[in-house]
Amino acid sequence: MRPTGKLHLGNYMGALANWVKLQDQYECYFFIADLHALTTDYADTSGVAPNTLEVALDFLAAGLDPKKCTIFVQSHVKPHFELPMYLGMITPLGWLERVPSYKEMQENLANKDLTTFGFLGYPVLMASDILLYQADFVPVGQDQQAHVELTREIARRFNQFYPRAKSKNVGDILRASQVHPLYVLPEPKVLLTPSPKLPGTDGRKMSKSYGNTILMTDPEPVLRQKLKTMVTDPARIRRTDPGDPDKCPVGDLHKVFSTPETIANVYEGCRTAGIGCIQCKGWAADALVQLLEPIQKRRANFSDAQVKEILEDGSNRARDRAEQTMVEVRSAMQMSMSSR
Ligand code: AMP
Repeated sequence: MRPTGKLHLGNYMGALANWVKLQDQYECYFFIADLHALTTDYADTSGVAPNTLEVALDFLAAGLDPKKCTIFVQSHVKPHFELPMYLGMITPLGWLERVPSYKEMQENLANKDLTTFGFLGYPVLMASDILLYQADFVPVGQDQQAHVELTREIARRFNQFYPRAKSKNVGDILRASQVHPLYVLPEPKVLLTPSPKLPGTDGRKMSKSYGNTILMTDPEPVLRQKLKTMVTDPARIRRTDPGDPDKCPVGDLHKVFSTPETIANVYEGCRTAGIGCIQCKGWAADALVQLLEPIQKRRANFSDAQVKEILEDGSNRARDRAEQTMVEVRSAMQMSMSSR
């Protein structure tokens, strides 16, 4: 997750809520991608460090448990600088230019100059983020599948150029990593997680860059006020007009957050004009308040000092794991003294 601001409900439903479940089933690494934040925010980096802490707090508030998973900061783990350099050497430009989000983001963020080496290369950084942990799975929504596919292609190319070194130490290396006997960088698979596209208060995809977010940290009055201003079914102009929850962003929120009973009442009340939009929005706000209350309580339990300690400890663990991979990478590429 990039530290570009406090996390919103879209981030929570699209990623974080799934991660909380996964930490009980897999050995998981979750990180705050501060280097990725630089790919778009390089001109003003003042927000990166404070937002790193905020995102870490949001992780912990959502229920990520540093005893169950590793939570770290990307730039605190130096192999995240080294592997992209090696992988960049073997990644054809055309692969990067074809990544769908490359053109898309340049158009969406027209106020920023994204014709940089760093921005074009961010999928290589992303591939390194995954491959450093010799990951089996990457939990992503459908919109991110193209990135994982590119990661697989980069890994395949690496493995073709640089099969595992046949050194006397290969047994040690295999014991240490217990990964593929031939390949240093196993191709990760997508672990498709449910990622409902959550609308923001203006009906477009909830996104920080649209200024339409409901934050995980919004206090109840702020949240209720934001919902009051949320757009609804445009065909329902007067209170007496019947509406259609399937054409209404508030209806979309109900489908994700409300109980089946409330959803039934929304459909019945809206389609018969039995309820007004204000009442319907009130019900949606109730569901959100109920969801966020325990999350906000948990957040309040962590001090900045505790969060920093958790990140330091996690970064140490991540560094140890990533360094194991780098030993194998350098050896396969014959870039280490010991392999000569
Ligand atoms: P971003 O910082 O926008 O790249 O988002 C980080 C994660 O949150 C990604 O995995 C997105 O898929 C997810 N996400 C962001 N916005 C939304 C949204 N409106 N609905 C669902 N998921 C979202």
